[in-house]
Amino acid sequence: MPNKHNKVLILGSGAAGLTAAIYSARANLDPILIHGMQPGGQMTITTDVENYPGFPDVIQGPWLMEQMQSQAENVGTKMIADTVVSVKLNIRPFELVCDSGETYTTDALIISTGAQAKWLGIDSEKKYQGFGVSACATCDGFFYRGKEVAVIGGGNTAVEEALYLTNHATKVKLIHRRDTLRAEKLLQERLFSHPKIEVIWNTVVDEIIGNAEGPMPEVMGISLKNIKNNEITQHNLQGVFIAIGHTPNTEIFENQLDKDAEGYIVTKPDSTATSVMGVFAAGDVQDNVYRQAITAAGTGCMAALEVEKFIAEQ
Ligand code: NDP
Repeated sequence: MPNKHNKVLILGSGAAGLTAAIYSARANLDPILIHGMQPGGQMTITTDVENYPGFPDVIQGPWLMEQMQSQAENVGTKMIADTVVSVKLNIRPFELVCDSGETYTTDALIISTGAQAKWLGIDSEKKYQGFGVSACATCDGFFYRGKEVAVIGGGNTAVEEALYLTNHATKVKLIHRRDTLRAEKLLQERLFSHPKIEVIWNTVVDEIIGNAEGPMPEVMGISLKNIKNNEITQHNLQGVFIAIGHTPNTEIFENQLDKDAEGYIVTKPDSTATSVMGVFAAGDVQDNVYRQAITAAGTGCMAALEVEKFIAEQ
């Protein structure tokens, strides 16, 4: 099958990829954007969004991504639904092979394949996702003003999310499967001394309890299991935040790009440039710290501007 050659190819259709597409299309780079099974990225699994600038009223995550996609298409991005299964970044032009068998070559590549929150994997978690179960306190914490919530996990993210949630919730229960936290000591001290936070040790989630009937499913409590004595306890609360880590979607770039110990693509300071010249990374695939739609969009813009400069210099 003949190769399809492009000046710039963007992988991933979250806020980073679509913003990169908008900017590179408007720079006449004729971008194509390949998106996989979850077009729109992580924003499509949230519901209410109140912190994306420009919208005074609450908007829906999936709606925002549809608008971004239409905007990218309207300025000339070609969207392709396919899954990239292998890449060759050690040849020029770069080569990408898709699940469909199609091969694409490109002078510049923007990787914005995102990251995915790790989930516990229980049925009730899926049932209430976006309706009381969340993996992002900064995104959804505000909706728990005056309510009680639980945070699952014992790393930096879980502790930071628990502390953040005290700004809104009346009570925060941190549920951890061991009797020591992985989080750094300073965060632990803040956690232990906070009057709104209770830590429940050696405990895992048995089930999330709620009402799934009616137009709006809602979480009403959580059933916990103590792993030392198998005791089950039930707690009334309205929100459950899963903070057991994220996984960047970088498997197909194994041994081709510099990644950090957790698999995130390493970019140069104040830049989206990766260890391979002509390959740029934007959004959560290279960001283990901020993880916001607006920061992803920001780095998507940076990547497109850097690609424009790179292509002009070639
Ligand atoms: P971590 O991998 O550090 O922690 C994950 C936590 O979730 C661990 O406590 C782990 O338990 C627990 N866990 C994992 N799987 C399960 C499960 N199935 N059921 C119950 N509990 C589970 O992830 P983080 O997202 O917290 O942090 C990722 C990286 O990002 C770290 O390097 C962290 O330091 C960094 N980070 C830094 C921040 C900062 O500097 N301000 C802020 C946030 C993150 P166990 O301990 O038993 O393994």
